[in-house]
Order: sequence, then C-alpha cells, then structure tokens
Amino acid sequence: MAFTMAPPEGMQNFVSHRVARTPETPEPILAGVEDEVSAAASHYTQPHEVEEFVKQTGVDSLAISIGTSHGAFKFKVKPGEEPPPLRFDILEEVEQRLPGFPIVLHGASTVMPEYVDLINRFGGRMEKAVGISEEQLRRAARSAVCKINIDSDGRLAMTAVLQKIFAENPGEFDPRKYLGPARDELIKMVRYKNEQVLMSAGKA
Ligand SMILES: [Zn+2]
Repeated sequence: MAFTMAPPEGMQNFVSHRVARTPETPEPILAGVEDEVSAAASHYTQPHEVEEFVKQTGVDSLAISIGTSHGAFKFKVKPGEEPPPLRFDILEEVEQRLPGFPIVLHGASTVMPEYVDLINRFGGRMEKAVGISEEQLRRAARSAVCKINIDSDGRLAMTAVLQKIFAENPGEFDPRKYLGPARDELIKMVRYKNEQVLMSAGKA
C-alpha cells in the first residue's frame, strides 16, 4: 500500500515532524468547509489502514473520521430527531491497533443551542444548525483522543452577542461596546468547554 499525495479515505489530516511543515494538513475528506478546503461527503476512517498509514508517513498524531464534520450544519435531522451518534466502534478499533497513539478529532462543535436560539431570536437565520452532543465529546475526551478541534461554537458565541446587541441598540457604532462583550462571551465559552466538556482544564 502506498500513500503519495493524499491519505486514504477517512484519514483527513495528520501531523508529522518529517512530512508536513505545518502542524496539521487537512485533506478534503471530512465533510464541511475549513479554510479553503471543502468536501461534500465524509468517509469514515478504515481502521485496517491506520497502522500502515502511520508507519509510512511518520506522523505524530492522526485525525480520524468517526462522524464529526466542519461547520454549524453537521446533520440533516427532523425536529425532535437525534443526530447520528459518533462511531466509537471505529475509534476503539483504532486505539487497539495503535496503542497510546494520539488521536485528533476535527469538526467537534456542539453548535450550542443557546447561541443558535439567540441568533434566531434576534434576527439571524440558523434554524437547522446542529452539532455533536456534549455527552459524546466527553466520551471521546476520555479515550485516546488528545485534541478536539472546535471552531463553529466560537463563531456562534460572538455572532449571538453581536446579533443581540445590534437588535437591541440599532444605533450602536462604538466597537468597544460590541466587540468587548463578544470577546468576553468567547472566553466564557472556551472556559466552559475546557472545564465541563473536554475536561482539559489544568492539563496543559
Ligand atoms: Zn478542522
């Protein structure tokens, strides 16, 4: 098996001291959009390929695909319907094949409902935004997953605050009055994730 330009399906990016110059090189396999990279469909990681991939590339960690995806609209679910669970069976098999090897998850925002509600309530339009449940992230954080990438929740936190401020004060034009609160909310959200979801507080 040879890996040249792109990793096999489901190994969307990797970290390597020998191969990649940047710490992580996302490949267009995980669904959604990140920077200029986008992918329409996601493919689950094939656990039988990971050992060979790690051996041949010399990567230091491996981002796998078990059902997370980039963006704020991760799943198409009907009202009241639960999004599909993450494929912990794949994660467990990867852990067995690569004992102690650092695993990474991308696209792991919960798409926090309180922010989505605020945005919708104050004139925004993000009705069908849905993400990964906190419970599943807590479970992932207890496993070989050592890094969980969250971006959309930060975007939502700041947008929700701005949307509310401008709806309530349409005449506001002092950036200190809206960028300050937006930043404070972002800090609050990150603190919450570290302390209550990823359980990574004090472990840096
Ligand atoms: Zn990512």
